[in-house]
Amino acid sequence: MPSRQTFGLLPPDTEFAMYLALVPFALVFCIGVYLRFRAAGLARLLINAPSGIGCALGRLLQYGFGQRRVAQRPRGWPHLAIFYGFLTLLFGSVMVAADWDVFQPLGSRILLGTPYLYLETLLDALGLVFVAGLSVALIWRLLKLPGISQDQRPLQWQFLLLGTGLLYMGVTGFLLEGLRLTLTPVPWADWSFVGYALTGTLRSLGVTENDQNIYVILWWSHALVAFSLIAALPYSALLHALAAPANLMLHSGRPQLGLDTPFDLRQIAADGNFDVKAGVATLADFSQVQRFVLMACTDCGRCDDACPGVASGTVLSPRRLVQGLRARQLANAAATDLLASGTVSAEAVWACTTCGACVTACPVFIQPVDYIVPMRRELLTRQQADKRQIELLGNLGRNFNPYGLPAANRAQLAAELAASNHTS
Ligand code: SF4
Ligand code: SF4
Repeated sequence: MPSRQTFGLLPPDTEFAMYLALVPFALVFCIGVYLRFRAAGLARLLINAPSGIGCALGRLLQYGFGQRRVAQRPRGWPHLAIFYGFLTLLFGSVMVAADWDVFQPLGSRILLGTPYLYLETLLDALGLVFVAGLSVALIWRLLKLPGISQDQRPLQWQFLLLGTGLLYMGVTGFLLEGLRLTLTPVPWADWSFVGYALTGTLRSLGVTENDQNIYVILWWSHALVAFSLIAALPYSALLHALAAPANLMLHSGRPQLGLDTPFDLRQIAADGNFDVKAGVATLADFSQVQRFVLMACTDCGRCDDACPGVASGTVLSPRRLVQGLRARQLANAAATDLLASGTVSAEAVWACTTCGACVTACPVFIQPVDYIVPMRRELLTRQQADKRQIELLGNLGRNFNPYGLPAANRAQLAAELAASNHTS
Protein backbone atom coordinates (compact mmCIF):
# COMPACT_ATOMS: atom_id res chain seq x y z
CA MET A 1 0.00 0.00 0.00
CA PRO A 2 1.36 3.52 -0.79
CA SER A 3 2.85 5.17 2.29
CA ARG A 4 5.23 8.00 3.17
CA GLN A 5 8.85 6.86 3.66
CA THR A 6 9.95 9.64 6.06
CA PHE A 7 13.63 9.45 7.10
CA GLY A 8 13.90 6.23 4.98
CA LEU A 9 17.05 7.37 3.14
CA LEU A 10 18.75 9.03 6.10
CA PRO A 11 21.17 7.55 8.70
CA PRO A 12 19.42 5.96 11.73
CA ASP A 13 19.87 8.80 14.28
CA THR A 14 18.93 11.62 11.89
CA GLU A 15 15.53 12.26 13.43
CA PHE A 16 17.01 12.72 16.92
CA ALA A 17 19.83 14.92 15.53
CA MET A 18 17.26 17.04 13.65
CA TYR A 19 15.17 17.76 16.75
CA LEU A 20 18.36 18.49 18.71
CA ALA A 21 19.52 20.95 16.02
CA LEU A 22 16.09 22.59 16.05
CA VAL A 23 16.29 23.48 19.78
CA PRO A 24 18.57 26.57 19.57
CA PHE A 25 16.70 27.95 16.56
CA ALA A 26 13.35 27.44 18.31
CA LEU A 27 14.70 29.16 21.43
CA VAL A 28 15.83 32.20 19.42
CA PHE A 29 12.36 32.29 17.82
CA CYS A 30 10.53 32.07 21.16
CA ILE A 31 12.68 34.79 22.78
CA GLY A 32 12.07 37.06 19.76
CA VAL A 33 8.30 36.52 19.87
CA TYR A 34 8.29 37.15 23.60
CA LEU A 35 10.29 40.38 23.27
CA ARG A 36 8.21 41.72 20.38
CA PHE A 37 4.76 40.88 21.73
CA ARG A 38 5.33 41.21 25.45
CA ALA A 39 5.79 44.96 25.06
CA ALA A 40 2.46 45.14 23.28
CA GLY A 41 0.63 43.09 25.95
CA LEU A 42 -0.90 41.31 22.98
CA ALA A 43 -3.17 38.84 24.78
CA ARG A 44 -4.82 41.66 26.74
CA LEU A 45 -5.15 43.81 23.62
CA LEU A 46 -6.80 40.97 21.68
CA ILE A 47 -9.26 40.15 24.44
CA ASN A 48 -10.23 43.84 24.49
CA ALA A 49 -10.30 44.15 20.65
CA PRO A 50 -12.15 47.45 19.95
CA SER A 51 -14.73 45.86 17.65
CA GLY A 52 -15.37 42.75 19.78
CA ILE A 53 -13.79 39.32 19.46
CA GLY A 54 -16.45 38.07 16.95
CA CYS A 55 -15.77 40.90 14.48
CA ALA A 56 -12.05 40.52 15.05
CA LEU A 57 -12.16 36.82 14.09
CA GLY A 58 -14.36 37.62 11.08
CA ARG A 59 -11.84 40.19 9.85
CA LEU A 60 -9.02 37.71 10.37
CA LEU A 61 -10.83 35.15 8.21
CA GLN A 62 -11.84 37.63 5.50
CA TYR A 63 -8.69 39.75 5.18
CA GLY A 64 -6.10 37.41 6.69
CA PHE A 65 -6.95 33.92 5.48
CA GLY A 66 -9.07 35.22 2.60
CA GLN A 67 -6.45 37.89 1.62
CA ARG A 68 -9.33 40.06 0.39
CA ARG A 69 -7.47 43.35 -0.04
CA VAL A 70 -4.44 41.63 -1.58
CA ALA A 71 -6.67 39.82 -4.07
CA GLN A 72 -8.26 43.12 -5.17
CA ARG A 73 -4.93 44.35 -6.57
CA PRO A 74 -3.83 43.20 -10.05
CA ARG A 75 -0.23 42.77 -8.80
CA GLY A 76 -1.30 40.97 -5.63
CA TRP A 77 -1.21 37.47 -7.15
CA PRO A 78 2.44 36.63 -6.24
CA HIS A 79 1.60 37.25 -2.58
CA LEU A 80 -1.51 35.07 -2.91
CA ALA A 81 0.62 32.32 -4.50
CA ILE A 82 3.26 32.56 -1.76
CA PHE A 83 0.66 32.70 1.03
CA TYR A 84 -1.52 29.76 -0.04
CA GLY A 85 1.48 27.74 -1.29
CA PHE A 86 3.26 28.20 2.02
CA LEU A 87 0.16 27.33 4.08
CA THR A 88 -0.32 24.11 2.09
CA LEU A 89 3.35 23.09 2.44
CA LEU A 90 3.19 23.86 6.16
CA PHE A 91 0.07 21.69 6.44
CA GLY A 92 1.91 18.88 4.58
CA SER A 93 4.93 19.11 6.93
CA VAL A 94 2.66 18.96 10.00
CA MET A 95 0.89 15.89 8.56
CA VAL A 96 4.22 14.16 7.86
CA ALA A 97 5.47 14.90 11.40
CA ALA A 98 2.20 13.68 12.95
CA ASP A 99 2.21 10.54 10.80
CA TRP A 100 5.80 9.64 11.70
CA ASP A 101 6.21 10.92 15.25
CA VAL A 102 2.73 10.48 16.68
CA PHE A 103 0.75 7.82 14.79
CA GLN A 104 3.57 5.49 13.76
CA PRO A 105 4.77 4.84 17.38
CA LEU A 106 1.12 4.05 18.23
CA GLY A 107 1.08 1.39 15.51
CA SER A 108 -1.04 3.26 12.93
CA ARG A 109 -0.42 5.66 10.02
CA ILE A 110 -2.41 8.58 8.54
CA LEU A 111 -0.37 8.98 5.33
CA LEU A 112 -1.44 5.74 3.71
CA GLY A 113 -3.21 4.63 0.51
CA THR A 114 -5.24 6.92 -1.75
CA PRO A 115 -5.60 9.88 0.70
CA TYR A 116 -1.80 9.98 0.95
CA LEU A 117 -1.46 10.02 -2.85
CA TYR A 118 -3.96 12.89 -3.15
CA LEU A 119 -1.98 14.82 -0.55
CA GLU A 120 1.26 14.24 -2.50
CA THR A 121 -0.34 15.64 -5.67
CA LEU A 122 -1.81 18.63 -3.79
CA LEU A 123 1.57 19.42 -2.20
CA ASP A 124 3.33 19.27 -5.58
CA ALA A 125 0.74 21.53 -7.22
CA LEU A 126 0.75 24.17 -4.46
CA GLY A 127 4.53 23.83 -4.13
CA LEU A 128 4.81 24.85 -7.80
CA VAL A 129 2.48 27.82 -7.15
CA PHE A 130 4.68 28.81 -4.18
CA VAL A 131 7.90 28.69 -6.23
CA ALA A 132 6.31 30.62 -9.12
CA GLY A 133 4.92 33.36 -6.81
CA LEU A 134 8.22 33.73 -4.99
CA SER A 135 10.24 33.89 -8.21
CA VAL A 136 8.05 36.67 -9.62
CA ALA A 137 8.09 38.60 -6.31
CA LEU A 138 11.89 38.38 -6.15
CA ILE A 139 12.29 39.51 -9.75
CA TRP A 140 9.97 42.50 -9.14
CA ARG A 141 11.91 43.49 -6.02
CA LEU A 142 15.22 43.18 -7.89
CA LEU A 143 13.93 45.31 -10.76
CA LYS A 144 12.73 47.99 -8.32
CA LEU A 145 16.03 48.07 -6.41
CA PRO A 146 17.89 50.69 -8.54
CA GLY A 147 15.06 53.24 -8.07
CA ILE A 148 14.85 52.80 -4.30
CA SER A 149 16.26 55.40 -1.92
CA GLN A 150 19.36 54.59 0.16
CA ASP A 151 17.44 54.42 3.45
CA GLN A 152 15.04 51.81 2.01
CA ARG A 153 17.74 49.54 0.59
CA PRO A 154 18.62 47.52 3.71
CA LEU A 155 14.99 46.46 4.03
CA GLN A 156 14.80 45.58 0.33
CA TRP A 157 17.93 43.43 0.67
CA GLN A 158 16.42 41.79 3.70
CA PHE A 159 13.31 40.89 1.68
CA LEU A 160 15.50 39.55 -1.12
CA LEU A 161 17.59 37.43 1.25
CA LEU A 162 14.58 36.01 3.09
CA GLY A 163 12.74 35.41 -0.19
CA THR A 164 15.79 33.58 -1.59
CA GLY A 165 15.82 31.40 1.56
CA LEU A 166 12.16 30.53 1.03
CA LEU A 167 12.79 29.83 -2.66
CA TYR A 168 15.68 27.54 -1.70
CA MET A 169 13.25 25.64 0.55
CA GLY A 170 10.75 25.22 -2.30
CA VAL A 171 13.30 24.16 -4.92
CA THR A 172 15.25 21.77 -2.65
CA GLY A 173 11.92 20.29 -1.49
CA PHE A 174 11.23 19.23 -5.09
CA LEU A 175 14.83 18.07 -5.60
CA LEU A 176 14.63 15.91 -2.46
CA GLU A 177 11.41 14.38 -3.73
CA GLY A 178 13.02 13.68 -7.11
CA LEU A 179 16.07 12.13 -5.43
CA ARG A 180 13.90 10.00 -3.12
CA LEU A 181 11.99 8.62 -6.12
CA THR A 182 15.25 8.06 -8.04
CA LEU A 183 17.02 6.26 -5.16
CA THR A 184 14.00 4.20 -4.08
CA PRO A 185 11.55 3.92 -7.02
CA VAL A 186 7.91 3.13 -6.09
CA PRO A 187 4.95 2.23 -8.37
CA TRP A 188 2.95 5.30 -7.24
CA ALA A 189 5.79 7.77 -7.98
CA ASP A 190 3.84 9.66 -10.67
CA TRP A 191 1.37 11.00 -8.07
CA SER A 192 4.26 13.26 -6.96
CA PHE A 193 4.32 14.65 -10.48
CA VAL A 194 7.04 17.30 -10.03
CA GLY A 195 9.48 14.98 -8.24
CA TYR A 196 8.66 12.24 -10.73
CA ALA A 197 9.41 14.56 -13.66
CA LEU A 198 12.78 15.33 -12.06
CA THR A 199 13.79 11.64 -11.82
CA GLY A 200 14.54 11.53 -15.57
CA THR A 201 16.83 14.57 -15.33
CA LEU A 202 18.57 13.23 -12.24
CA ARG A 203 19.21 9.86 -13.87
CA SER A 204 20.54 11.53 -17.02
CA LEU A 205 22.92 13.49 -14.76
CA GLY A 206 24.27 10.15 -13.51
CA VAL A 207 22.47 9.90 -10.13
CA THR A 208 22.15 6.22 -9.13
CA GLU A 209 20.92 4.20 -6.11
CA ASN A 210 24.43 4.54 -4.60
CA ASP A 211 24.29 8.36 -4.36
CA GLN A 212 22.56 8.50 -1.00
CA ASN A 213 25.09 11.08 0.28
CA ILE A 214 23.72 13.71 -2.09
CA TYR A 215 20.30 13.19 -0.54
CA VAL A 216 21.67 13.45 3.03
CA ILE A 217 23.59 16.70 2.32
CA LEU A 218 20.65 18.31 0.51
CA TRP A 219 18.23 17.20 3.25
CA TRP A 220 20.35 18.83 5.99
CA SER A 221 20.80 22.05 4.01
CA HIS A 222 17.00 22.16 3.49
CA ALA A 223 16.39 21.62 7.22
CA LEU A 224 18.97 24.21 8.37
CA VAL A 225 17.64 26.91 6.02
CA ALA A 226 14.12 26.19 7.35
CA PHE A 227 15.33 26.45 10.97
CA SER A 228 17.19 29.71 10.21
CA LEU A 229 14.06 31.25 8.70
CA ILE A 230 12.05 30.24 11.78
CA ALA A 231 14.65 31.87 14.06
CA ALA A 232 14.81 35.04 11.89
CA LEU A 233 11.04 35.51 11.78
CA PRO A 234 10.55 37.79 14.84
CA TYR A 235 13.68 39.86 14.05
CA SER A 236 13.18 40.48 10.34
CA ALA A 237 10.73 41.66 7.72
CA LEU A 238 9.02 38.25 8.10
CA LEU A 239 7.63 39.54 11.40
CA HIS A 240 4.59 40.78 9.48
CA ALA A 241 3.47 37.13 9.18
CA LEU A 242 2.77 37.20 12.94
CA ALA A 243 1.94 40.88 13.47
CA ALA A 244 -0.42 41.39 10.51
CA PRO A 245 -3.04 38.81 11.63
CA ALA A 246 -2.94 40.30 15.14
CA ASN A 247 -3.39 43.80 13.71
CA LEU A 248 -6.39 42.69 11.65
CA MET A 249 -8.00 41.58 14.89
CA LEU A 250 -7.08 44.77 16.76
CA HIS A 251 -8.34 47.12 14.07
CA SER A 252 -11.03 49.49 15.30
CA GLY A 253 -12.71 49.87 11.89
CA ARG A 254 -11.99 53.56 11.18
CA PRO A 255 -9.15 56.10 11.48
CA GLN A 256 -8.64 57.44 15.00
CA LEU A 257 -7.94 61.08 14.20
CA GLY A 258 -9.22 62.61 17.43
CA LEU A 259 -7.38 63.08 20.70
CA ASP A 260 -7.07 60.07 22.98
CA THR A 261 -7.99 62.35 25.88
CA PRO A 262 -10.15 65.20 24.56
CA PHE A 263 -10.05 68.40 26.56
CA ASP A 264 -12.59 71.14 27.21
CA LEU A 265 -11.11 74.50 26.26
CA ARG A 266 -13.54 76.43 28.48
CA GLN A 267 -12.64 74.25 31.46
CA ILE A 268 -8.94 74.78 30.78
CA ALA A 269 -9.45 78.55 30.57
CA ALA A 270 -11.43 78.47 33.79
CA ASP A 271 -8.76 76.40 35.61
CA GLY A 272 -5.90 78.38 34.14
CA ASN A 273 -4.02 75.10 33.53
CA PHE A 274 -2.88 75.16 29.94
CA ASP A 275 -0.57 72.17 30.28
CA VAL A 276 -2.45 69.99 27.74
CA LYS A 277 -0.84 67.42 25.43
CA ALA A 278 -2.44 67.63 22.02
CA GLY A 279 0.25 66.25 19.71
CA VAL A 280 2.79 63.44 19.82
CA ALA A 281 6.53 64.00 19.92
CA THR A 282 7.84 60.46 20.42
CA LEU A 283 6.69 56.93 19.73
CA ALA A 284 6.02 56.54 23.44
CA ASP A 285 3.27 59.18 23.05
CA PHE A 286 1.35 56.91 20.68
CA SER A 287 -0.94 54.27 22.15
CA GLN A 288 0.25 50.72 22.78
CA VAL A 289 -1.88 49.47 19.86
CA GLN A 290 -0.49 52.11 17.48
CA ARG A 291 3.08 51.10 18.34
CA PHE A 292 2.29 47.42 17.87
CA VAL A 293 0.53 48.02 14.54
CA LEU A 294 3.78 49.28 12.99
CA MET A 295 5.23 45.78 13.13
CA ALA A 296 2.56 44.54 10.71
CA CYS A 297 3.86 46.70 7.80
CA THR A 298 4.92 44.51 4.88
CA ASP A 299 6.54 47.41 3.01
CA CYS A 300 4.31 46.61 0.05
CA GLY A 301 4.00 50.27 -1.01
CA ARG A 302 0.26 50.17 -1.74
CA CYS A 303 -0.24 53.22 0.49
CA ASP A 304 2.27 55.15 -1.66
CA ASP A 305 0.50 54.05 -4.85
CA ALA A 306 -2.77 55.52 -3.53
CA CYS A 307 -1.37 58.68 -1.93
CA PRO A 308 -2.02 62.02 -3.73
CA GLY A 309 0.98 63.47 -1.85
CA VAL A 310 3.26 60.92 -3.54
CA ALA A 311 1.56 61.36 -6.91
CA SER A 312 2.05 65.13 -6.80
CA GLY A 313 5.76 64.81 -6.00
CA THR A 314 5.81 66.00 -2.38
CA VAL A 315 8.22 64.52 0.16
CA LEU A 316 5.34 62.61 1.77
CA SER A 317 5.49 58.82 1.55
CA PRO A 318 3.17 56.98 3.95
CA ARG A 319 5.20 53.84 3.35
CA ARG A 320 8.47 55.51 4.34
CA LEU A 321 6.78 57.19 7.29
CA VAL A 322 5.45 53.88 8.65
CA GLN A 323 8.74 52.10 7.97
CA GLY A 324 10.69 54.90 9.72
CA LEU A 325 8.47 54.64 12.80
CA ARG A 326 8.72 50.85 12.68
CA ALA A 327 12.53 51.02 12.64
CA ARG A 328 12.44 53.27 15.73
CA GLN A 329 10.07 50.86 17.45
CA LEU A 330 12.25 47.83 16.69
CA ALA A 331 15.36 49.74 17.86
CA ASN A 332 13.63 50.44 21.20
CA ALA A 333 14.00 54.16 20.52
CA ALA A 334 10.50 55.03 21.69
CA ALA A 335 11.70 58.16 23.51
CA THR A 336 13.39 59.76 20.48
CA ASP A 337 11.81 63.01 19.28
CA LEU A 338 10.44 61.96 15.88
CA LEU A 339 10.40 65.42 14.30
CA ALA A 340 13.67 66.72 15.76
CA SER A 341 15.53 63.49 14.86
CA GLY A 342 14.33 63.64 11.25
CA THR A 343 12.49 60.29 11.50
CA VAL A 344 9.53 62.23 10.09
CA SER A 345 9.93 65.60 8.39
CA ALA A 346 7.59 68.50 9.09
CA GLU A 347 7.26 68.96 5.33
CA ALA A 348 5.93 65.41 4.94
CA VAL A 349 3.49 65.92 7.81
CA TRP A 350 2.09 69.06 6.18
CA ALA A 351 1.87 67.45 2.73
CA CYS A 352 -0.85 65.01 3.87
CA THR A 353 -4.37 65.94 2.75
CA THR A 354 -5.89 63.45 5.27
CA CYS A 355 -7.80 61.91 2.35
CA GLY A 356 -7.51 58.43 3.87
CA ALA A 357 -6.61 56.71 0.57
CA CYS A 358 -3.65 55.03 2.29
CA VAL A 359 -6.00 53.60 4.91
CA THR A 360 -8.25 51.85 2.41
CA ALA A 361 -5.27 50.63 0.36
CA CYS A 362 -3.34 48.95 3.16
CA PRO A 363 -3.83 45.16 3.09
CA VAL A 364 -3.12 44.82 6.82
CA PHE A 365 -5.21 47.80 7.96
CA ILE A 366 -2.39 50.13 9.01
CA GLN A 367 -3.59 53.75 9.09
CA PRO A 368 -0.65 56.07 8.28
CA VAL A 369 -2.88 59.13 8.68
CA ASP A 370 -3.34 58.19 12.37
CA TYR A 371 0.36 58.92 12.89
CA ILE A 372 0.45 62.05 10.75
CA VAL A 373 -2.39 64.04 12.29
CA PRO A 374 -1.09 63.91 15.90
CA MET A 375 2.36 64.98 14.64
CA ARG A 376 0.75 67.89 12.86
CA ARG A 377 -0.87 68.89 16.14
CA GLU A 378 2.57 68.68 17.70
CA LEU A 379 3.94 71.08 15.09
CA LEU A 380 1.13 73.51 15.90
CA THR A 381 1.89 73.19 19.60
CA ARG A 382 5.50 74.04 18.82
CA GLN A 383 4.26 76.93 16.69
CA GLN A 384 5.97 75.46 13.65
CA ALA A 385 3.27 76.33 11.15
CA ASP A 386 3.23 79.18 8.66
CA LYS A 387 0.22 81.18 7.47
CA ARG A 388 -0.41 78.84 4.51
CA GLN A 389 -0.41 75.76 6.71
CA ILE A 390 -2.80 77.29 9.22
CA GLU A 391 -5.05 78.24 6.31
CA LEU A 392 -4.95 74.62 5.12
CA LEU A 393 -6.07 73.39 8.55
CA GLY A 394 -8.88 75.93 8.58
CA ASN A 395 -10.02 74.69 5.15
CA LEU A 396 -9.96 71.07 6.30
CA GLY A 397 -11.95 71.96 9.42
CA ARG A 398 -14.55 74.11 7.63
CA ASN A 399 -14.84 72.53 4.18
CA PHE A 400 -13.38 69.03 4.59
CA ASN A 401 -10.88 69.66 1.81
CA PRO A 402 -7.50 71.45 1.87
CA TYR A 403 -8.40 73.94 -0.89
CA GLY A 404 -11.24 75.76 0.88
CA LEU A 405 -13.73 74.79 -1.81
CA PRO A 406 -17.35 74.43 -0.67
CA ALA A 407 -17.91 70.90 0.68
CA ALA A 408 -21.17 70.73 -1.32
CA ASN A 409 -19.12 70.92 -4.57
CA ARG A 410 -16.97 67.93 -3.68
CA ALA A 411 -18.64 65.51 -6.12
CA GLN A 412 -18.37 68.05 -8.96
CA LEU A 413 -14.70 68.70 -8.13
CA ALA A 414 -13.94 64.96 -8.13
CA ALA A 415 -15.66 64.56 -11.52
CA GLU A 416 -13.65 67.47 -12.99
CA LEU A 417 -10.41 66.04 -11.63
CA ALA A 418 -11.21 62.61 -13.08
CA ALA A 419 -12.00 64.21 -16.46
CA SER A 420 -8.79 66.25 -16.49
CA ASN A 421 -6.75 63.15 -15.55
CA HIS A 422 -8.44 61.27 -18.34
CA THR A 423 -7.60 63.85 -20.99
CA SER A 424 -4.01 64.54 -19.80
S1 SF4 B 1 -4.20 60.43 4.16
FE1 SF4 B 1 -2.27 61.52 3.79
S2 SF4 B 1 -0.73 59.89 3.68
FE2 SF4 B 1 -2.73 58.91 3.43
S3 SF4 B 1 -3.06 58.83 1.21
FE3 SF4 B 1 -4.04 60.73 1.93
S4 SF4 B 1 -2.43 62.29 1.67
FE4 SF4 B 1 -1.39 60.30 1.58
S1 SF4 C 1 1.48 50.79 5.56
FE1 SF4 C 1 0.28 49.12 4.66
S2 SF4 C 1 0.15 49.67 2.47
FE2 SF4 C 1 1.81 50.90 3.37
S3 SF4 C 1 3.68 49.71 2.98
FE3 SF4 C 1 2.94 49.16 5.05
S4 SF4 C 1 1.64 47.34 4.71
FE4 SF4 C 1 1.93 48.30 2.70
